[in-house]
Amino acid sequence: MRIIRTIAELREAVKAAKQDRRSVGLVPTMGAFHEGHLSLMREARAHNDLVVVSLFVNPTQFGPNEDLSRYPRDEARDAALAEGEGVDILFAPEPAEIYPDGFATTIHISGITDVLDGASRGAHHFDGVATVVAKLLGIVAPDVAYFGQKDAQQVLVVRRLVRDLNLDVQIVACPIVREPDGLAMSSRNVYLDPAARQQATALNRALEAAAEAVEQGERDGAAIEDAARRILDDAGIVPEYLELRTADDLQPVTRLDGEALLAVAAHVGAARLIDNRLLRVSA
Ligand code: AMP
Repeated sequence: MRIIRTIAELREAVKAAKQDRRSVGLVPTMGAFHEGHLSLMREARAHNDLVVVSLFVNPTQFGPNEDLSRYPRDEARDAALAEGEGVDILFAPEPAEIYPDGFATTIHISGITDVLDGASRGAHHFDGVATVVAKLLGIVAPDVAYFGQKDAQQVLVVRRLVRDLNLDVQIVACPIVREPDGLAMSSRNVYLDPAARQQATALNRALEAAAEAVEQGERDGAAIEDAARRILDDAGIVPEYLELRTADDLQPVTRLDGEALLAVAAHVGAARLIDNRLLRVSA
């Protein structure tokens, strides 16, 4: 596996592969790899000739009071894990390589970024995500890019970016990888002390309770949210948001038919965690 730090060098490597008609898969990440990241790499490895993983803690998607400075970083460990998954190139640029002096462009996607994490974290978050993903897609020009359904709103933002800017790339969303007790894997789980780690299991249990209510025939949006909220209440968690929204454009759901996304964000101990579940009923 090659570790590449400059855009010029990366472009050379990808160009050589493309000249040989080899397909290119990209997995964008911020590092601190866990099984969720590795599942994306495996998917990319299974379907592409050249697999590029980007490792870049993107400063522009963090707010001033968020965890940019303490975000877990361990490039040597990440490189070993990526190599173990058969990744060909780890693209690990310095911030100045991505945002040189005079950088002046921001991509803003309206509508779907006004709610959930866009409302909670502020517009800068998805502006930062959309801008860095657009740059990575421009730099690598992959055939396919892989994202985790863990960040469901991010997947919608990336799909909209690709559609609206006519980018020639296929976006694949991979399922959420969970710990044995159901907690969604996240680089931020390292912030949890043992008590908070236990408390955090309530997020997935809440989503499961909502799914169970739907299975029992509940279709009222507020009642489905309440089924989840009761579990959070019992665990002493006050969610930042807990909302049922349409799966494609994040509109509020008063009555469930078809597919909807139940999304939750909450501060648990020292971590801000998100999780979600798609709820489906046949029409
Ligand atoms: P991050 O490094 O947190 O920006 O995540 C990089 C990619 O991995 C994103 O597409 C995430 O959605 C995805 N990812 C993170 N956690 C998980 C998980 N538990 N299951 C599946 N994908 C994940």
